[in-house]
Amino acid sequence: MEALKQMILEKGQVRNENVLAVDSFINHQLDIPLMDKMGREFWAYFKDRGVTKVLTIEASGIAVACFTARYFEVPVLFARKTPSLTLTAQEDKYFAEVHSFTKQVDNQVFVSKRYLSPEDTVLIVDDFLAHGQALLGLAEIVKQAGAKLAGAGIVIEKAFQKGGGLVREAGIEVHSLARIASMKDGKVEYV
Ligand code: 5GP
Repeated sequence: MEALKQMILEKGQVRNENVLAVDSFINHQLDIPLMDKMGREFWAYFKDRGVTKVLTIEASGIAVACFTARYFEVPVLFARKTPSLTLTAQEDKYFAEVHSFTKQVDNQVFVSKRYLSPEDTVLIVDDFLAHGQALLGLAEIVKQAGAKLAGAGIVIEKAFQKGGGLVREAGIEVHSLARIASMKDGKVEYV
């Protein structure tokens, strides 16, 4: 998506060869017209799949998930990260383990069984695809619920990391709006 690719070149900050900061338009401050275009683009790509729910993971996926769900006219469901399992009843939730390479932590994420059922067709949406752990965790939750997975809409795929290959090998259809081939010497190159 040209507008997004241009915005990344203008306002994205390459922190190192592996990490891109997009705080001024996606991860901290939100560019609403751009979010709206991204949501519309995901809708245009997946609109014939019978999507009943848009699933993401807190916190940074929620905004783009909302703009996507607005076009599908379906609810957004976000997986929550739980610091302590003892605080919540486990039996009414689907759980998945998600390792974060950027934060170097393991998160157990969950979704209430009340909001996902075998009647659902789910579109997963997230801001980044890096090592694929977030996406595979969400897909695991969809599977546990017996729901159908329509595919995944990703804002920025770092195609030089292994996630894209892993999730596509797992049979998940991924539509990424910007695919980055490399970030060497502070410069973003697209696929
Ligand atoms: P994965 O599970 O694919 O390794 O990583 C996906 C998650 O890590 C995304 O939801 C995103 O929050 C975070 N992430 C991974 N790489 C980057 C990056 O380069 N920049 C930012 N801002 N977040 C990232």
